[in-house]
Amino acid sequence: MICSYCYKTKVVAKHDVGHWWNNPPESVYVCSDECYTKLEKLVKNGAWMDHKPKAIFGKKEQKPSPNFDK
Ligand SMILES: [Zn+2]
Repeated sequence: MICSYCYKTKVVAKHDVGHWWNNPPESVYVCSDECYTKLEKLVKNGAWMDHKPKAIFGKKEQKPSPNFDK
């Protein structure tokens, strides 16, 4: 799994935090108490939108802007 706060891969899931976004259980994790506390803060003040946990926003689908190649 990937930690939704620090984005480390292959970490052991310590806390299931999917409920913060009404996600089903076992879909969003953090790897440590530290990440849990910090991510919880972001969730509470709304800043998680900028943090963009990968488990929620999934694969990168960043399309270049229409003007990119001009
Ligand atoms: Zn972490």
